[in-house]
Amino acid sequence: MQSNIYRSHTCGELTAANVGASVTLSGWVHRKRDHGGLLFIDLRDNYGITQVVVDITKPELAGVEKIRPESVITVSGSVVARDSAVINAKIPTGEIEVVAVAIKILAESEVLPFQVFGDEESNEELRLKYRYLDLRRERMHHNILFRNRVIKSMRDKMWDMGFSEFQTPILGATSPEGARDFIVPSRLHHGHVYALPQSPQQWKQLIQYSGFDRYFQIAPCFRDEDLRSDRLLEFYQLDLEMSFVEQEDVMGVCENLLVGLVTEFAPTAKLHADIPRITYDDAMLKYGSDKPDLRIPIEIVDVSDIFRDSDFTIFADAVKSGAVVRAIPAPGSSDKPRSWFDKTEEFAKTELGLAGLGYIVFGIETKGPIAKKLTAGQVESIRVRCGVSVGDSIFFVCEQPGIAAKAAGKLRKRFGEEIGLDPKEFKICWVVDFPFFEADEESEKGIMFGHNPFGRPQGDLQNLDLSEPLKLKAAQYDMVMNGEEVGGGGLRNYDPAAMLKLFEAVGYGEDVVREKFGGMYTAFQYGAVPTGGLAMGVERIVCLLLDEPNLREITAFPTNQRGQDLMMGSPNTPFEKQLREAHIQFRKKN
Ligand code: ASP
Repeated sequence: MQSNIYRSHTCGELTAANVGASVTLSGWVHRKRDHGGLLFIDLRDNYGITQVVVDITKPELAGVEKIRPESVITVSGSVVARDSAVINAKIPTGEIEVVAVAIKILAESEVLPFQVFGDEESNEELRLKYRYLDLRRERMHHNILFRNRVIKSMRDKMWDMGFSEFQTPILGATSPEGARDFIVPSRLHHGHVYALPQSPQQWKQLIQYSGFDRYFQIAPCFRDEDLRSDRLLEFYQLDLEMSFVEQEDVMGVCENLLVGLVTEFAPTAKLHADIPRITYDDAMLKYGSDKPDLRIPIEIVDVSDIFRDSDFTIFADAVKSGAVVRAIPAPGSSDKPRSWFDKTEEFAKTELGLAGLGYIVFGIETKGPIAKKLTAGQVESIRVRCGVSVGDSIFFVCEQPGIAAKAAGKLRKRFGEEIGLDPKEFKICWVVDFPFFEADEESEKGIMFGHNPFGRPQGDLQNLDLSEPLKLKAAQYDMVMNGEEVGGGGLRNYDPAAMLKLFEAVGYGEDVVREKFGGMYTAFQYGAVPTGGLAMGVERIVCLLLDEPNLREITAFPTNQRGQDLMMGSPNTPFEKQLREAHIQFRKKN
């Protein structure tokens, strides 16, 4: 580092090799300890901490003891070796200390709203209001620098795989990701708005139609959704698109990238080499989720047929009228106390909205409310089909297929978490063959696009069969790691006639297509190419690599859970002049 008036070295740099040198360091007063006459200051900067010893009996250093933590100072002094008894092996500078000759106070700190030193957690609202203090804390500082390194590595890996980096507009037209847009009123065009991109989806396809081949971008995306710990109003995607590709080509690139990141940033973790492709239907059946956590050693099993023929009339009748029975094994639970079974039932009622849960316990004897209603042969068939043995139990959900799948999935997850999931074990999978359309009671034709209206249905684009739209599958794939959707993408439609047909199926005529997606529709008339791509959630991947549960812990300046930035005061009331220029008048709140 170039020496200047503030520093000759950083606070993380000095070692025994520097003993005897005269140095200048600048940083924050991390911690101070007053040993009567001798003051020890831990001086901190981005790079580390160096212990400074101040003899406050010296007139030129008198008064330094009054300085508050987090004040910023410049210290000049000489490097001395610490006594062997007080060497701190935990930090790189632990063998030395700097004996201060002069100290200059650059900026004093007020009394702190919370401690920067130590790892005591304070309330999140306070941390967000004083985020610059919060980010000085060791864990947060580390998280942000870690995130930066992950992003650099993503970028390098993409360039290495032959992609080039583009920028696309932030002020754009509404995009089709299905969330709510943030809109920006136009000053020049009265009554018109821009939409902030939910993703650069249309842009990246148009980049391919412009003759570029492999696009990527670390793209800011904006979605006006209700916030949870796994959502932010604005977030970053590693967004990519490729021309003349099949599904496996895109998947290959993404696997390379994600496996590379896990290997680099979680080197001690156990990463499973096998990355299975699971169909959406199978995922919903076996795991009750389209983002299955494969670390959980439990598979849900359909046992509707066994119950249909049983004397357990509640289930039998339900199955006859369209319900299904899903069995969720709970390994090693047979000797759990009765209260555990009661709590599981309570969870099913209060959290999953189920009327109840039946179960069979395979202990020394086979018992439980359901066992009594079945023949020994039926119980044995269920046991064999579920692959359980003595020591386990099985819970049953009887509901309409969609509800049963999700409820069974949540129970599977609960049992998995009770068994214990290792955050340092990574299991990646692909979920493929999503339905192209979904049932949607509110829409004109009773169906809506499942994912992306520009997605490509499976099969022959020129001869689309839309006779049973809900059975149509999309060339759509999600990348899932440890139960989190880390990426989603698909192959795209590029055929204008197919585009009209697909939009028609959900009730949008050619006029709507031309009005809302005219840019894409017209581009399709001039030689559009088959493309495919995917977008990965940058924050989600960083969280998984760091084992941080909350996206805000790896984001420098997130909003709070109500979408407010308490530090900068947004959103706030605009000036009257701004409203006038943007032709806006607020409606009365209703
Ligand atoms: N634009 C999609 C999304 O944001 C990703 C893709 O299909 O490439 O989920």
